[in-house]
Amino acid sequence: MSTNSASHSAAPAEAPFLPGPILLLGAPGVGKGTQAQILVAHFGIPQISTGDLLRAIRNDPAKASTPDGALAKSLMDRGQLVPDELVNQIVANRLTEPDTVNGYILDGFPRTLAQAQWLDAHLVQINSPAPIIAVEIQVDEPQLLRRITGRRTCPKCNRIYNIYFNPPQVKGVCDDDTMLLCQRADDTEEAFQKRMEEYRAKTLPVIPHYKAAGRFRTVNGDAPLGTVSKDILCALKDLRGVSSDCSASETGVR
Ligand code: AMP
Repeated sequence: MSTNSASHSAAPAEAPFLPGPILLLGAPGVGKGTQAQILVAHFGIPQISTGDLLRAIRNDPAKASTPDGALAKSLMDRGQLVPDELVNQIVANRLTEPDTVNGYILDGFPRTLAQAQWLDAHLVQINSPAPIIAVEIQVDEPQLLRRITGRRTCPKCNRIYNIYFNPPQVKGVCDDDTMLLCQRADDTEEAFQKRMEEYRAKTLPVIPHYKAAGRFRTVNGDAPLGTVSKDILCALKDLRGVSSDCSASETGVR
């Protein structure tokens, strides 16, 4: 038997697709958190949620009592955005962690045009191997309201439920670890309307920024969970120029 490996070599194995920095965009409640968790499992890269990072500050008595912490808490509880400089700094710190080297999923950031511009410049400054690509998940507003007001989260494992569409087996209790589920303070209808106003006014202008740079796709978030995930994967491959047998669902990727 020949030991000449060249003569036996098969076609080179397809390099694993690593998506680099990803941004999931969409109105409050479109499922960014849920889809981010699916991408985390698929790619083994971390999810960076500025909402989670800010809640960690708010829930830490030492941090919440600083001027920045107190400001963040009062704005979050009213469904308003925390100042760009504060959030940018939190993200800059998080991006120094070694687990971000193969990419990461930003969830809830950037949420303003100024944050998007800061992020582009920051990624150049830190020699990011690739620029950020953005996928918007789109869902109609009435559906969003039920998603938001019905949302419950396990404080221990972060599993997300919805009392209308995806309830736990036992009311109010996590299926996985029997912890009592929590409702976020900003998941009321009043805070939802406020957040929608903020989204329209401040976050929608982010979309033309990424569109103009050719780094943007939209997927239909009203499709079944798995279909949305598949469409997001297709969009990511497309945006990174990776050829694949990927075909978007009927609802499609735009
Ligand atoms: P989320 O969990 O992403 O809905 O975020 C919860 C709250 O945290 C928001 O309503 C804002 O008050 C604040 N927040 C999260 N991300 C940002 C951001 N990128 N810019 C400003 N405020 C943010």
